[in-house]
Amino acid sequence: MTDLDAKTFAGQVVLVTGGSRGIGRAVTLAFARQGATVTFCYHSDHAAAQQLCDEGNQAGLRITARQADVSRADEAAALVQQTVAAAGRLDVLVNNAGIFLARPVLEMSDAEWNQVLHANLSSVFYCSRAALPAMIAQGGGAIVNIASIAGKRGSANHAHYAAAKGGVLAFTRSLAREVIDRGIRVNAVCPGRIATDLLLDGADDAEHARWRADTPIRRLGTPDELAAAVLFLAGPAASYIVGETLDVDGGLLMD
Ligand code: NAP
Repeated sequence: MTDLDAKTFAGQVVLVTGGSRGIGRAVTLAFARQGATVTFCYHSDHAAAQQLCDEGNQAGLRITARQADVSRADEAAALVQQTVAAAGRLDVLVNNAGIFLARPVLEMSDAEWNQVLHANLSSVFYCSRAALPAMIAQGGGAIVNIASIAGKRGSANHAHYAAAKGGVLAFTRSLAREVIDRGIRVNAVCPGRIATDLLLDGADDAEHARWRADTPIRRLGTPDELAAAVLFLAGPAASYIVGETLDVDGGLLMD
C-alpha cells in the first residue's frame, strides 16, 4: 500500500448531522472514502438520503442513514445513542445540520426565532452532549461544528441565523476547554458562500453577480472544499488544534 492509498479514518465511526444534501453529503462521502463507517441523519428528504446510501453502497462504502430532527433534544439523543449502539463507538461528530431563513427582525415571530435557534444552535448542544459519554469512555474523539461567516460579521435579515452561528462559535470554544483533557478536540468551520440548496434556492442572476463581486476568489465554494476542511480538523493532522475556527470563505473574512 502506498501513502496515497492510506485511509486516514479507517476503523473510525463518524456521525454527520444533515448529511443527505449539500455540505453534509460531501462530508459523509469524504469520510467514507477515507475508510470510516459513517452514519448521517436527514430531516425530511428521504429520497436524497436513500440516493446517498445507494451511491455509497455501490462504491463499497459504509454509509447508513437515519431520520432525525436534531432540533429536538429527544431525537438528537436517540440518533447518537443508536449510532453508538450499532457501531460500538463514536470517533467523530460533525454538527452540520442547519436551516437558513430570511426575515427582518421587525417582522420576526417568536416561533421563527426559536425554529432557527433550535435547528442551528440547540442541535449542536444536543448532539454534542449525547456524543460525549461514548468519546470519554473510549478515551477521545473529535467534534467539528459547522458555523458560518454570518456568526462572525452578522447578516441583515438573518439575525436569528447569525445569532445561532455566533453561538456555535462560542459553544465550540467553551466545550473545547471542557473536554480537551478527555482527549476530545472540538473545532469549527466557518463556510462563506457554498453552492448548495441552502444558498442557491431562490437566488437570481443579480445575486450571483453580487456574490462573485464581493468574494475575493470570485466564485462560490464547493461542498467538497468544505469537506476537506472538516476532515482536516477531525483528523490526525490537526492533533494540536483545539477550539479553533477555520474560515473557508474564498477570502470574504480576510480583512
Ligand atoms: P442544505 O443543502 O440545505 O442541507 C441541509 C441538510 O441539513 C439537509 O441534509 C437537511 O435534511 C438537514 N437538516 C436541516 N434541518 C435539520 C434538522 N432539524 N434535523 C436534521 N437534519 C436537518 O445546507 P448546506 O448548505 O449544506 O448547509 C450545511 C451547514 O452549513 C448548515 O449548518 C449551514 O448553516 C452551514 N452553512 C452553509 C453555507 C452555504 O453557503 N451553503 C454558508 C454558511 C454556513 P433534509 O434535506 O432532510 O431537510
